[in-house]
Amino acid sequence: MSDVQDASRHVQELASRGVRFVRLLYPDLHGIARGKLIPLEELPEAAAHGVAFATGIMFTDLHHQYLGAPDPGIPDFRAVPDLSTLRVPAWDPSVAWCLTCLHRYQDDDRYELDPRAILSRVVQRYRAHGLEPVIGPELEFYLLVPNGAGQYERYFRTLSPVYTTGPLSDPRGFVRVLLARVEDSGLHPRSAFSEYGRGQFEVNLRHGAALDAADRTFLYKTLVKECAAEFGFVATFIGKPWNDDEGSGFHVHVSCSDDAGNNRFADDSTDDGLSQLAHHFCAGVLTHLPAIMAFLNPTINAYRRIAARGLVPRYANWGLDNRFALLRIPPERGSATRIEVRIGDGAANPYLAFAAVLAAGLDGIERQLPSPPPIVGFPDDLPECERGAEIPADLQASCRALAADATLVAALGQPLIDAYLLLKQSELDRYARWVSDWELAEYVPWL
Ligand code: GLU
Ligand code: MG
Repeated sequence: MSDVQDASRHVQELASRGVRFVRLLYPDLHGIARGKLIPLEELPEAAAHGVAFATGIMFTDLHHQYLGAPDPGIPDFRAVPDLSTLRVPAWDPSVAWCLTCLHRYQDDDRYELDPRAILSRVVQRYRAHGLEPVIGPELEFYLLVPNGAGQYERYFRTLSPVYTTGPLSDPRGFVRVLLARVEDSGLHPRSAFSEYGRGQFEVNLRHGAALDAADRTFLYKTLVKECAAEFGFVATFIGKPWNDDEGSGFHVHVSCSDDAGNNRFADDSTDDGLSQLAHHFCAGVLTHLPAIMAFLNPTINAYRRIAARGLVPRYANWGLDNRFALLRIPPERGSATRIEVRIGDGAANPYLAFAAVLAAGLDGIERQLPSPPPIVGFPDDLPECERGAEIPADLQASCRALAADATLVAALGQPLIDAYLLLKQSELDRYARWVSDWELAEYVPWL
């Protein structure tokens, strides 16, 4: 069946369920959901020709500045619905959601800045080895109350809400509504609860094949922000929204299965229950960590979460069920054997973060890199030579490491790296010129 026939069949079926519009969506490089709302009848046309967007969207920073694209004239790309991702959220059955694949107009290749295509390409390389990367995302976020003057207050103020559920730590019942929506949109939530911070929550999504997991993470983050907006809140995934509360992480659990569905990171004949493949994967991630940090910790703010010394790793190391290790091996084995990458910040674009982690791990697998010994205990108590390498201290250092990492550049593509670094440099330049409230409070009284 052609895409157009398939789309026409979907139109009939969706119309009979009361759907009137389709929300076509794709992630920009920040991971923000961009797209257009189209009448349902337009879906076959969109499937045949795509819906046009200016490539400038991929070169626009969060301060509303267009930074200049390499293509003269800012040509269009077309977003073609990926009909396998169509879903009708139960709370608003008049609007279906559909992710898209981005293409240029002159050929059928995927647009080189399409984050979904970049992740798919890395996954294809695993498949060439008979492996399917599987990812389980864990995301924390804060719910804030805007005060109308451009500032935010806490949604919840009492200490120690951690691991509670219900109205004592969520007086407006936000999490219940959110969890229902996450479930009703097929994003497969596993659990939701209050985290350590006041007004901080965590929802875990079921693991799945890497692209599916990234799609669900992307839609989930969109849903959290939109659901919060309906309540009059602002939800944020940035790593360190408060000076006096815990940061928000994006923990990424990774494993690899083979064609028969066996977890190839497991090996019950070894002392630690991990296969050589798992060790090579760890070694690859640790080797390329400075570069992948640019995607896992993509903001200036992200490095404050790391510096604050909460439950956040600060050295490139791994450990068995050790929360202070950057790569933690959770205690389950057999089919649940996995590697938890704990350094990520909630603000990361899930497609680019997964693509970077998987590309780094694959380099370890392909070159059969040996993993260092695991750390035991608290890293700062260990001699310097056993702790693991220092990680980049700020966004500038991560961006430099990314630009210099030929393996990562080749895996994600030079056009993506150039566009991404252009966006990040704009952030860094604007930040370098900005006078902050800290400077006024620190210096003005006496200097
Ligand atoms: N909030 C911590 C972080 O910033 C993680 C806490 C946890 O282990 O769930 O990564
Ligand atoms: Mg947590």
